[in-house]
Amino acid sequence: MKHNVNCVIDANNLIKIYQNGSEELKVLDDVSIQVYRGDFMVILGPSGSGKSTLMNILGCLDLPTSGQYTLDGLNVLEASDNELAEIRNKKIGFIFQKFNLLPRLTALQNVMLPLLYRGVKEEEALEAAKEKLTILGLGARLFHRPNELSGGQQQRVAIARAIVGNPQLLLADEPTGNLDSKSSEDAIRIFKELNQQGNTIVIITHDVEVAQQVKKIVYIRDGKLYENH
Ligand code: ADP
Ligand code: MG
Repeated sequence: MKHNVNCVIDANNLIKIYQNGSEELKVLDDVSIQVYRGDFMVILGPSGSGKSTLMNILGCLDLPTSGQYTLDGLNVLEASDNELAEIRNKKIGFIFQKFNLLPRLTALQNVMLPLLYRGVKEEEALEAAKEKLTILGLGARLFHRPNELSGGQQQRVAIARAIVGNPQLLLADEPTGNLDSKSSEDAIRIFKELNQQGNTIVIITHDVEVAQQVKKIVYIRDGKLYENH
């Protein structure tokens, strides 16, 4: 099948089975999903429905038991571990519920890290990180460590870290799950602005209020995707 260049995520018939001893748990049951450049999609579903499993597969952190997955034209299931690491580093920005910031590093150092991993020069990484943090309203918090920042500020650092390398795709797993409603609204506003600037964004959430703020919602229930409720 010919690849559509505007299709960032092209996943078809994904099945994921976890093996616990002799027990098999089918967590994704024939999931197909397409995400196009510039999309802002929310995948909404209750706890245990398979959201994080799907996110991990779409983010090349895990592989499906079977199915096909093409990310930005690359066949993920045939990629080597090195190629997968490169895809993760260059094409995807991740945002997690628990922020996953390194506690001993400052905000600035946390945001510089993905660039340093890629071999970007320190000065260049510093400038880029400073710029992103400033855009996100943290210009006065560059040298604070995560525990010196509020939850909303920590999540903004995590967003800055996710976007600092200009990835093709932003994947966020319950990005508002640890935020109060004001910070949650701020985070969604930031995602909307990033989307208006051309970022492709997929948010996975159980929060109906988050989902209500975007046009494209798909629903996940017991490992199956639905276009409608
Ligand atoms: P959600 O993010 O929607 O809460 P998950 O994808 O985390 O859902 O989990 C879906 C189901 O898969 C749950 O029943 C969970 O217990 C199970 N599960 C998740 N990860 C694993 C794993 N590594 N091994 C076995 N079972 C798992
Ligand atoms: Mg989850």
